[in-house]
Amino acid sequence: MADKKITRVGVLTSGGDSPGMNAAIRAVVRTSLFHGLEVFGIMRGYSGMVENDIISMNSRSVANIIQRGGTILKTARCKEFYEYEGRKKAYDNLKSRGIDALVVIGGDGSFQGAEKFSKEFDIPCIGLPGTIDKDIAGTDFTIGFDTAVNTAVEAIDKIRDTMEAHDRLFIVEVMGRDAGYIALHSGIATGAENIVIPETKTDIEEIIQSLTEKEKRKKLVNLIVIAEGGEFGDAYKLSAIIKERIPTSDTRVCILGHIQRGGSPSCHDRLIASHMGYYAVESLLLGRYNVMVGVINNKIHYLPLEKAVKEKQKIGQEWMKIVKILAS
Ligand code: ADP
Repeated sequence: MADKKITRVGVLTSGGDSPGMNAAIRAVVRTSLFHGLEVFGIMRGYSGMVENDIISMNSRSVANIIQRGGTILKTARCKEFYEYEGRKKAYDNLKSRGIDALVVIGGDGSFQGAEKFSKEFDIPCIGLPGTIDKDIAGTDFTIGFDTAVNTAVEAIDKIRDTMEAHDRLFIVEVMGRDAGYIALHSGIATGAENIVIPETKTDIEEIIQSLTEKEKRKKLVNLIVIAEGGEFGDAYKLSAIIKERIPTSDTRVCILGHIQRGGSPSCHDRLIASHMGYYAVESLLLGRYNVMVGVINNKIHYLPLEKAVKEKQKIGQEWMKIVKILAS
């Protein structure tokens, strides 16, 4: 805890966008105004800080955005912020407006930037986890994950209709370069026969064997959900292996791609974004600085920014066992 009088709060979204970021911005702005603080929106993540693209915000600035995907403040990756000179420029721009605290909505990279910045220039920062991948330590949920996974489920349900009609094997690739949560959750929810994720070792022989066995008993409709960038590279690589080993299988690939990032946030994402946004400002006012606001077991949880890193290996083998039993 620290003791510093906060009067002007800057809010920004940084890194990859995720549905619910607008709900978080709205909560930060309105909670700040409620406490008599001034609020500034920083455009395009740290780029707006470095380039002085900063706007004053009032209650109306965030009207009618809770249901909108993307981010009204836009987001970006900013090379200059990795360097001290860039961060100094950003600090001078904040100082010229009297901004004395920051709320950063983004992923672990954005938090690392915030942590460095805060230490160098004594600007208290609060992080809110905005990423569809749900792979950040210190929170059970990240803003955007629930929407992304529901988008994937809706798309896979549609694909299943055509799979069933043609007796096909479909390999659906979902987002999650380093994290398999979208693949795991959407795969279980759509009854996938196999799920391939970076956190667990995949036994290709076991997949081939189970497909061959299912083919023998005329279970020709099979769904494999794979996280991008897994052990096999991508869905096309996995498809090539299966086609080579089981030439009779009618295999198709579908890559869901960026539809998983967009769209109106789910009720759950709007709720956690509103909750986290509110507690970000409360935390600043209580002098609890340089933490990420998360939710663990339905309770608000604060984690020092330097610990809010990508978290791996939380998906246990138990889940994969359940997937196989339920899809047999
Ligand atoms: P995410 O926040 O989604 O993980 P990035 O890793 O791309 O996305 O980070 C977003 C931005 O945060 C970067 O473009 C950069 O401006 C800033 N940033 C990330 N890591 C650092 C770091 N180690 N030092 C300073 N700034 C950083």
